[in-house]
Formats: sequence, structure tokens, C-alpha cells
Amino acid sequence: MRIGDTNPRRLLTKANGYLGAYDYTLNPYVGCVYACNYCYVRALPVARFHEGDWGSYVDVKHIDDAPFRHELNLARRRGSVNIFMSSSTDPYQPIEARVRRTRQILTVIAADPANIDFLFIQTRSPLVTDDAELIRSLGDKALVSMTIETDVEDVRRRFAPYAPPIETRLCALDSLRERGVRTQVAVAPLLPSSDQFADRLRQVTENVVIDDYFLGDGAQGRRSTGLHVADLYRPSELSEWYSREKIGELHRQFVEQFGCRHVFLSKNGFLPPKLRTGPRNA
Ligand code: SF4
Repeated sequence: MRIGDTNPRRLLTKANGYLGAYDYTLNPYVGCVYACNYCYVRALPVARFHEGDWGSYVDVKHIDDAPFRHELNLARRRGSVNIFMSSSTDPYQPIEARVRRTRQILTVIAADPANIDFLFIQTRSPLVTDDAELIRSLGDKALVSMTIETDVEDVRRRFAPYAPPIETRLCALDSLRERGVRTQVAVAPLLPSSDQFADRLRQVTENVVIDDYFLGDGAQGRRSTGLHVADLYRPSELSEWYSREKIGELHRQFVEQFGCRHVFLSKNGFLPPKLRTGPRNA
């Protein structure tokens, strides 16, 4: 594991592609130690042109408050400021406990919330609860989307062995909700799960987005094919889960538990809530 640093000219990056409805993406780090086996970021230029295997490094971005505040001010003068954090790293991976870059970003934003329209925080780390008060201070302008791809620990260990255990994520969600933070679960990508999955999630959040490799890898599944994700589904009892049809089945189960207004599909469920187009059939 190599920890480096980097001094980017800007923190806000123009959003495009799958996240094109956002104005900006924001990544406090380069690299991600969770190294999920299905992660398609390893196929993107940010990883392809970086030394070392995906998961073996993290570069910490150097952030000065004043220039970042200036960047936000400029962005605000140009128009809407909807931010997705993060598109190619986890903002609450373990190093955050030591260097607190994500907290620094939140602190600058929370000092003048008028500078943003919305901040979407995508993570699979319970560390996000450390910033619950800061996030809550942004009210409806912030949402924490917690990735929980399965409720079966053996499956989690197979597909994402370095990511936090499922139970710790469920507890984190519960804690965030109790502390007044707006949350949702991202079942993304959907992995093999038990029949109790939807019921279990219903106990800790009100909204869920479901995504798979075919709708959600930004290239209609081609990136995942290139990464040989299908191989992770062998032996054969898992292989039925690697299909375009499975998302429809899961969608129906989740609608039964959550109601159709609370279950979103793919890209739509990663938008700021006010930009979502409403439920769609899978
Ligand atoms: S947490 Fe996200 S960015 Fe990190 S390896 Fe997993 S899928 Fe990739």
C-alpha cells in the first residue's frame, strides 16, 4: 500500500457521461484501497495511467481552504453547483480517519451552503458517521448514498474483500438516519443476495437505488466485460446473477418492500432527488 500526495489545480471537475446531470464531480483522493473486484475505475485513465495496481495506492489531494472557497464562488457565479462526491474513489476510505480531506471539503462547503445546490456523497464506509453533524447542517442539500450490494457476507468477501463488512454499513445508515441525515442505499452493482435483503434494508432507510453492470458501468456493460467480471460469478450457482434480467426481479422485490416511489433504477437514483424523473419499471 503506497500513500502519496498530489496538488491539483482544481478540486471540482466538470461532470460528464453517466454523471452528466451533475455539474461537477469531486474526488478527495486518487485511488481506492477497497479495490472492489468489479470496480471499473481501474479501467479508466485515472487508474490506467497511474503507477501500481488499482487498490495498491492512494494519493491524498492537497487542499487549501481559500482557493477551494474561491473555486466554489466562481462555480456559483457560473450557474448551478450540483456535486457528486466521489466518482472514482471512496471519500471515506480508511485514510480519511487520518488526514480528513473529505471533512475539510465539507467544512468549507458548510461554511457557505449557498454556494452549492446539492452534494451527493457516495460511500461504502461507516467512517461517514464521523461527519454526520456537518452533513446534517447542509439539510436537504446533502444526501449520503451507502453502497450495500448484498446482505451475504460470503458474497461481499468474494467480490469486495477489502470493503467494510455489511453489518457495519447497516449500522452506519441507522446512525445517520437517527441523527437527521438524508440517506439512501445503493445496491450497486447488485450482487447475489438472500430473500431477506429488501426487508433488511427497509429497516435502515427509506429509499434505494438498484444498478447493475449493464445499466451502470457507463458503457452498457462493456467495461465490466473487459474486466472479466463474469468470471467472479463462477461457480455456476452464482452465474444466474450475472444477467440483464436479474435487475427486474430485484426491482419487483424492492418495490414490494419500499413502495414504487422509493425505488430507483440506475442513473436516475444517483441524481439529486429533485432532478429524478420518478419511478420506472425494470
Ligand atoms: S469503493 Fe468504489 S471506487 Fe473504491 S474500489 Fe470499490 S467501487 Fe471502486
